[in-house]
Amino acid sequence: MFIDKAKVFVKSGKGGDGCVSFRREKYVPLGGPDGGDGGRGGSIIFRVDTGITTLMDFKYRRKFVADPGENGGTSKCYGRDGENLLIRVPLGTIIREAESNKIVCDLSEKDSEFVLLRGGKGGKGNCKFTTPTRQAPHFAEPGMPGEEMNIVLELKLLADVGLLGFPNVGKSTFLSMTTKAKPKIANYHFTTIKPNLGVVAIDGIEPFVMADIPGIIEGASEGVGLGLEFLRHIERTRLLIHVVDISGIEGRDPFEDFVKINEELKNYSVKLWDRPQIVVANKADLLFDEEVFIEFERKVKELGYDKVYKMSAATRENVDAVIKEAARELKEIPITGLEILDEERYIPEEKKFTYDIEIERGEECDTYVVSGSFVDRLLSAVNIHDADSLRYFHKVLKNKGVLDDLRELGIQDGDMVRLDDFEFEYIL
Ligand code: GDP
Ligand code: MG
Repeated sequence: MFIDKAKVFVKSGKGGDGCVSFRREKYVPLGGPDGGDGGRGGSIIFRVDTGITTLMDFKYRRKFVADPGENGGTSKCYGRDGENLLIRVPLGTIIREAESNKIVCDLSEKDSEFVLLRGGKGGKGNCKFTTPTRQAPHFAEPGMPGEEMNIVLELKLLADVGLLGFPNVGKSTFLSMTTKAKPKIANYHFTTIKPNLGVVAIDGIEPFVMADIPGIIEGASEGVGLGLEFLRHIERTRLLIHVVDISGIEGRDPFEDFVKINEELKNYSVKLWDRPQIVVANKADLLFDEEVFIEFERKVKELGYDKVYKMSAATRENVDAVIKEAARELKEIPITGLEILDEERYIPEEKKFTYDIEIERGEECDTYVVSGSFVDRLLSAVNIHDADSLRYFHKVLKNKGVLDDLRELGIQDGDMVRLDDFEFEYIL
């Protein structure tokens, strides 16, 4: 499995602030409150797009911030919601929380979509705060902030195409000619442990991923050598390119090789054996008797494989033709989902949605200090020069249990309570 990675910062949009406003009309001296609500901030959404095969785009753009919601307006005008930010990723993308490296989401199903961060809620406008006794609220709610997160995108890249064939037939050479993969090319029977993968991207085709799977040797399906592990890899490919050495330079019979490999394959998995195969007679540059190829092609076709190509990975003869044929066939074979990784999941902290409140006795013992993000939010909502606002303020303190906590700490009538730079006297 080849893994492509990118570290990205994402942030959802802040909610728009509610508006404080009063109706102004001719001949209506004291219009009622008409401040509208702020819009919701844009969310960060990931969507699988099978047209994308790599995480390349994220090498250039690493920061994604969704739009904020619009502030509420006068005349009960709602602020517009911020636009969601849709981030398209390839099938098989895993989102991890950067610090813990735990999986937040595994996008391994076609058409799946995941809302990673929700936009902040818009604040209510002042017209929502009217009560029978409070006709003219001079305060409104601010929008909730957006959430942010550092994530790592990881692509489980599984091969679309598997290269099949005996050692030394030219699979690695073919892969290195068509992709940026740097496989070991050796003129001896060499099997690497890890399959080599690369993205094949030439003009005029949809890019696809091709893997060189060496080590399919006789007895592989019984677990001899490294065969089994490799077979497991090609099990997920959609198309096989079966390479044989047509030159006979190593004294082997290409048709016999072809049959042997297919027997191995069938023993291991009939499903795999049923996969479409493009048959490639490689090392055509060393072929001196054209009859050998014609004979090979005839026998292979008799077995029901009708895509047979003569190719030379060394001189590049017909290489593009084989690639184009593969791309054409892949279009016909649907991509199904990928395996979902069975790993511990990241669970977002609840704290994100709540505000913290801290209450302590100040240095002068008749002063109590209330702090935390709750305070910032509350103070930005109220207008402390307005009596109605202060009543609302008092109500929030009561509802959030701040007054109870103060009493528990032993607050006395006449003691001071400080929130940031705002102080008031505590009156029972
Ligand atoms: P693999 O074991 O199937 O991966 O085979 P390699 O790609 O390692 O190639 C084995 C040997 O064959 C290397 O020495 C290559 O240079 C050589 N070879 C591969 N393709 C061709 C070809 O089309 N023509 C010739 N003349 N040699 C080739
Ligand atoms: Mg090789």
